[in-house]
Amino acid sequence: MTERIANLKKRFAELYASPVAGVVSAPGRVNLIGEHTDYNDGFVLPIAIDRCTLAVYGPGENRRVNLASLQQEGDNAWFDLDATIEKGSPKWANYPKGVAAGLVEKGVEIAPMNILFDSDVPIGGGLSSSASLEVATALAMLGAADREIDDYELALICQKAEHDFAGTPCGIMDQAISVMGQAGKALLLDCRDGAVTHIPFDDPGLVLLVVDTKVKHDLTDGGYAARRDQCYSAAAKLGVKMLRDADADMLASTDLSDKELMRARHVVSEIARTLQGVDALNDGDYATFGKLMYASHKSLRDDYEVSCEELDEIVAQAAQLEGVYGARMTGGGFGGCAIILAQAPQADNIAEAITKNYTARFGFPCVVFATRAAGGGQSETNGRS
Ligand code: ADP
Ligand code: MG
Repeated sequence: MTERIANLKKRFAELYASPVAGVVSAPGRVNLIGEHTDYNDGFVLPIAIDRCTLAVYGPGENRRVNLASLQQEGDNAWFDLDATIEKGSPKWANYPKGVAAGLVEKGVEIAPMNILFDSDVPIGGGLSSSASLEVATALAMLGAADREIDDYELALICQKAEHDFAGTPCGIMDQAISVMGQAGKALLLDCRDGAVTHIPFDDPGLVLLVVDTKVKHDLTDGGYAARRDQCYSAAAKLGVKMLRDADADMLASTDLSDKELMRARHVVSEIARTLQGVDALNDGDYATFGKLMYASHKSLRDDYEVSCEELDEIVAQAAQLEGVYGARMTGGGFGGCAIILAQAPQADNIAEAITKNYTARFGFPCVVFATRAAGGGQSETNGRS
């Protein structure tokens, strides 16, 4: 990390005339269980991972905010603090611009500043590089303005940026965990009221492997937004505010369409699995947690229809391997990443077997890496932290 920061400061000095005023970081995430439940007011159980977006910032001039990223070299952007902040091109800058617009709306006086980002969260890989970019932006802008904002409110501002400026109608999970993650803990988040409980997730006998499929399939039927709408129409027909308020019995006799029933069945069962998963983790009962992971995957595959053959292959293969407790897709789906919970001493064998099998089946390798529950966003202003 120290090396990454030193390199970023060097690049900052090459790009901008200003001195460095601060460095911030915000992590990506994997969700252990509780998928596609956040926008149904349900529960989620993510961890912040040990990969993050860093931002180095310094004072700017002429009422301007300059934005640059090592992942978008040559595609620099800026906006004027005296004009209304609007989305535009380059596309990547819409995330930081959206955050700035949200902060202004909350009465934060953003300072003229220069920002340079660098991320080691895989971009577009389902580990939420977008939320980590938003949270890093917010922390840099708050640092420069010498302001603080309540954690959950900050997550909401970042979520709104993703909705309004990037056009992704995401839930609150990604931004919340990037702000509130704690090292060695998973975060049980109640997406109805923002209540959080930190659940120990630091057993040295365990390993959590992330398997990046390296694929992102096009969403042929409007994917995410379509499912969101099916959930809302199912809730309306069931006479409840959100699917959080439904239960399995209510689904037994309804006039839901086939698709609405499938989506609702996933959400209702996934919320129950998430709460059972918390009990299992608290008891150190990883066998039970693993079974819940497999059940979650099956439900996402068959009822929510957001898996794909690459993810299914990884999960099916993991189930055959020694030392594996459970596996499932994580994130929105249609590609991206799977996670495998396993006994730590078996990590290398599992990674090797998964990669070999995947390459033989699909003709290109997946990427496997171990991760752990890391801390949430952090800022450091000129030596003070
Ligand atoms: P995910 O959040 O799963 O990584 P998304 O499609 O939600 O995938 O977000 C990826 C987009 O976020 C990128 O296409 C880019 O516009 C933006 N982004 C994320 N990280 C960076 C970064 N470090 N620099 C520039 N843009 C980034
Ligand atoms: Mg994203």
